[in-house]
Amino acid sequence: PPTRPPPPPPQKKKKKKKQQQKFKTNKKHQLSCFEGLWILPSMVGGSVLYFLSVDQWHRVAAWLYGSGLTGLFITSTLFHTAAWKISHLRQVEQRFHMCDRMAIYFFIAASYSPWLMLRELGPWACHMRWLIWVMACIGSVYVFFFHERYKLVELLGYVAMGAVPALVILCMRTGVCELAMGGVFYGVGVVFFKSDGLVPFAHAIWHLFVAVGAGIHYYAIWRYLYLPETQLQTSR
Ligand SMILES: [Zn+2]
Repeated sequence: PPTRPPPPPPQKKKKKKKQQQKFKTNKKHQLSCFEGLWILPSMVGGSVLYFLSVDQWHRVAAWLYGSGLTGLFITSTLFHTAAWKISHLRQVEQRFHMCDRMAIYFFIAASYSPWLMLRELGPWACHMRWLIWVMACIGSVYVFFFHERYKLVELLGYVAMGAVPALVILCMRTGVCELAMGGVFYGVGVVFFKSDGLVPFAHAIWHLFVAVGAGIHYYAIWRYLYLPETQLQTSR
């Protein structure tokens, strides 16, 4: 009678699984490098806002926002490139990962800056202008000391960073809808981010959601804060 081939020894099985895992991780970082495609548009987008500026406040806000946006995509691309190409240099990869995580805090602060700086929204918003940067610094210090240690605290940090400034700009008459929509994209994106390993291409999908969310926010800032005809209605 035909006999079945003997099962591979457990040692070999383990090795195969490890190889598959490595292949998957590699693919994830390789795909995520497409994030680099957004670096140049972010720079151009920031410059467009800068040149549309009518005063010093607009220029500073454009500069902060453009840098935050570009910085996010640069650090993310650097980290994923490092994780893909030089993953054997654990220490270097770890450093890039930390920078990537810190950049998210500064990116959120930068995204709120134009709204907080260019609209007159009361004393709370006034304080929030600098408070968001303090929050970003605290988040970064946390990343520096406890990187990847308490996943839930990490997530809560980002949620707080995203939600607290929103509270003081909800009273705006225009732009809230777009801001909320961008926020929803980030929120759904986080679900994919957390499904890494469970859903195929989850991390790449997360990046897509971030790009769309950032795109919507850019559109809102350009339209409501920088377009010449709207600047007159909404200026401070
Ligand atoms: Zn990523």
